[in-house]
Amino acid sequence: MKVKVDLDLCQGHSVCLAECPEVFNVVETEEGYPQVVVLIEEPPEELRQRVETAATFCPNRVITVED
Ligand code: SF4
Repeated sequence: MKVKVDLDLCQGHSVCLAECPEVFNVVETEEGYPQVVVLIEEPPEELRQRVETAATFCPNRVITVED
């Protein structure tokens, strides 16, 4: 599984971080607003359900999960 995020559309809501902190972190950018950082771009299968939950509940729907 590969995790991708469209940073142009991420608004730093941190839902992803709440769902799966092993894979997602949210940090302040140099421009002064929060944005996601993907910590593991190819997470292990045991994290799939939580990664997919993060993708489903991301308010901006900017997380994609590819096989
Ligand atoms: S939940 Fe979505 S919009 Fe919010 S920080 Fe995570 S990826 Fe970005």
